[in-house]
Amino acid sequence: ESRSAERVITAEVLAPLRGWRDPHSDKRAQGHVFVLAGSREYPGAALMCVLAALRSGAGLVTAFVPEAFVSSFAASVPEAIWVGWPETPNGGLALEGEYLLRERLARAGEKRALVIGPGIGRERETQVLVGEVLKTYSGELPVLLDADALQPEFLEKTRGPLVLTPHAGEFRRLSAAEPSDASLRDFAQRVGAVVVLKGPVTRVCDGSPRRDSCLNRGVSGEGSGEREGASALPVYHSLLGGPVLARGGTGDLLAGMIGAQLAREPSAILEASCRAVAWHGLAAEALERAQGAETVRTTELLNYLSLALRS
Ligand code: AMP
Ligand code: MG
Repeated sequence: ESRSAERVITAEVLAPLRGWRDPHSDKRAQGHVFVLAGSREYPGAALMCVLAALRSGAGLVTAFVPEAFVSSFAASVPEAIWVGWPETPNGGLALEGEYLLRERLARAGEKRALVIGPGIGRERETQVLVGEVLKTYSGELPVLLDADALQPEFLEKTRGPLVLTPHAGEFRRLSAAEPSDASLRDFAQRVGAVVVLKGPVTRVCDGSPRRDSCLNRGVSGEGSGEREGASALPVYHSLLGGPVLARGGTGDLLAGMIGAQLAREPSAILEASCRAVAWHGLAAEALERAQGAETVRTTELLNYLSLALRS
């Protein structure tokens, strides 16, 4: 019944958010998001991603950014735990900072997620760092790769729960295919990840092996992989949002929002991803209704998250 199914993501997926902060809640139970982001070239992407994680329910956000930005970022967003990362000569994230991640992750609770990519740039040393981080930590906690962390070379380095958030161009770079439901299914299954293919219509497909092995369990013999393979995976479509989102930084916000949902629910990465996609889109619609699509700033979307939750 799920074969080639197309499903639509609606506001109903937001329901769990309304009861999550129960009266006995502790910040650790609300999820701890770790963000590895930013460079001298793109500092703002890191800031937007962190703001979005903070504004979408995370109990704690630890942000690793090039050390030059820590004092100004902490002054403007004191709620996050800002950790200065050693820089390359060009102001990117340097390889030698990896121990910082180890130290901070070791102290965190069970509910955690790691977001890598917004604003990191394509400097070689930073790219090597991302590969090393994936080799070491993938499998220990859900990892989201966005923006310049979306490189084909990293796909073999991941083991555990993985979410990828490419726009059309990044999807082409990763998969060497044109974006479509069929190519998304194939790619998601091949890499074993939840893939959020962003655009005017955002499509989400879960190719993670756990789900796949569930499908295949009890089906014996050769050819079962093909029979219950990529063609059986549902693709979830979100038409929420609109052209107000066609401006810089909206993807960085989405990465932070998915990060917060992943940290809260590390064992349900498809649900977490769809929930953030819907929330992001509904907040964009509320923003556009209130202020129009032309004169707004990207971060104003965050002021409409609470309205979107009530709708
Ligand atoms: P990025 O390209 O990484 O900044 O991500 C852009 C974000 O805005 C994604 O969440 C897209 O789905 C969304 N987006 C961009 N353009 C549109 C559009 N015309 N209608 C709806 N959503 C859009
Ligand atoms: Mg982007």
